[in-house]
Amino acid sequence: MNSITVAAPAKINWRLEILGKRADGYHILRMLNQQVELADAVTLKLADADTCTASVPIEGANLALKAWLKLKEQLGRTECLHIHIEKNIPLAAGLAGGSADAAAVLRGAVQLLQLPISDAELLALGLSLGADIPFCLTGGLMLVEGIGEELTPLTPSRRLLVIANPGCQQSTKAVFAACGAAVAAARDEGRGEALALAESLGGATAAAVAALCRNDMLAAAEQLSPQIGELMADFAALGLAPQLSGSGATVFAPCDDPQLAEQAVARLKERWPFAVACHTIA
Ligand code: ATP
Repeated sequence: MNSITVAAPAKINWRLEILGKRADGYHILRMLNQQVELADAVTLKLADADTCTASVPIEGANLALKAWLKLKEQLGRTECLHIHIEKNIPLAAGLAGGSADAAAVLRGAVQLLQLPISDAELLALGLSLGADIPFCLTGGLMLVEGIGEELTPLTPSRRLLVIANPGCQQSTKAVFAACGAAVAAARDEGRGEALALAESLGGATAAAVAALCRNDMLAAAEQLSPQIGELMADFAALGLAPQLSGSGATVFAPCDDPQLAEQAVARLKERWPFAVACHTIA
């Protein structure tokens, strides 16, 4: 075997609470994260040099290549890889696309090259590259706490979602900076609410699930990208309860009716550049 293709699923946040900020600048969060079927495809191929290409232009250093180079250095390997990413996840969209690609590279390289590294070491390496990477390495449905390193696996359920993006790239850093006062608002009851939402995914209606969703970044994200509010209004007009994923600008909604989801995607596509119906990964 000299190549491998790995799926890199996007994530949505059923909930995202900002609990504080550490002295080193990292935010302390409590998130209920969920992998979804919307995914990039990452191919790793043995090559003469370490290179990375993608089906769409990506500004700056690719996190996927960075992940491979760090793994290679940590294990003192000499092999080289060409990485190719078929991008299906919108860029800078609050869907953790870059982190998903990096996690897929780590998992793919370990499998392709039979690398001697434990799961704990891989998670630590992932965290050193980005706060979303430990979750992307593990997947499913998880309560994610701390700066992204405290993972509590929960039982995932297959749920239908409508996901749309207004086409404006949103900087996570800028949204955190704009959050200001929300950073100090620690809420003890949030953990119970997140666990109740996780439980509700097994059978509750989309409306009941949506009532338990929360995102402390919404006001700041909407202030930076007013299109988010317009997209949310379009979801609501279609009978869907819109939620913001991560720092945006992607909006999603749980949906009980496949026909409604299909109609909603068609309508949203008339105005917005990206809309899909897909399931959560159970
Ligand atoms: P998060 O939800 O973790 O904040 P995001 O979904 O908002 O992430 P990404 O799609 O991961 O954002 O991209 C953020 C930035 O990272 C991009 O603007 C891009 O410059 C850079 N980047 C580096 N590698 C990648 C990659 N493989 N895919 C997408 N973006 C990448």
